[in-house]
Amino acid sequence: MSIQENLERVRKRINAAALRAGRDPEEIKLVAVTKKTSVEVIKEVLALGIKSLGENRVQDFLVKYPQLSPDIEWHFIGHLQSNKVKKIIGKVSLIHSLDSWTLAEVVSRAACEAGVVAGALLQVNIAGELSKYGLSPDETEAFAGAAAGLPGIELRGLMTIAPECEDPEEVRYVFRQARELAKRLKDNIPGIKMDLLSMGMTGDYEVAVEEGSNILRLGTALFGR
Ligand SMILES: *Cc1c(COP(=O)(O)O)cnc(C)c1O
Repeated sequence: MSIQENLERVRKRINAAALRAGRDPEEIKLVAVTKKTSVEVIKEVLALGIKSLGENRVQDFLVKYPQLSPDIEWHFIGHLQSNKVKKIIGKVSLIHSLDSWTLAEVVSRAACEAGVVAGALLQVNIAGELSKYGLSPDETEAFAGAAAGLPGIELRGLMTIAPECEDPEEVRYVFRQARELAKRLKDNIPGIKMDLLSMGMTGDYEVAVEEGSNILRLGTALFGR
């Protein structure tokens, strides 16, 4: 299948899932996860109308970034080491993976020094997987309250990665809990935004849409393996 066919199929499925949930498909952003793809392949997906790209490694991002249009909206979706923050500040529009207080402070300082505001999501480890980064749901509210006060960071919402599974219904609870947690933070923390929910990958994005995701991070579904 070509990337174009893949994209058409993905868009149809997103639309159908949104309609099942009584949602407007237009409010769901598709981020093409371009890790392991070449600049040539990325240009192909851009030509098909994709405007947002996601990378999970700073090194790879830094190779691709200067070769592509400055109009691309870049999303940093992987674990971010504090010593690499400076390299991406001002270049990415959203960091999906704030997962420690140290990192939040470093992002804040780097953004202030660069004179920009860094959009960011808190990564939450809903399923409590030891193999994954992310805040535990229990600590997220206190963390969000404190992070909302850091200069240079605009906290926009939550990101979560569901466990791998055969049947996406098995991880519906992950997406539902993330949505409920975001709502709780919005209700309890004055002035906090919490308008973005980044959840849903190739194996589970339709369920994520049904549970309220508005940013899908799709790699394999678009580029194949
Ligand atoms: C690789 C990756 C994705 C995309 O995964 P696919 O299953 O290929 O769609 C999404 N989010 C993160 C954080 C990733 O690292």
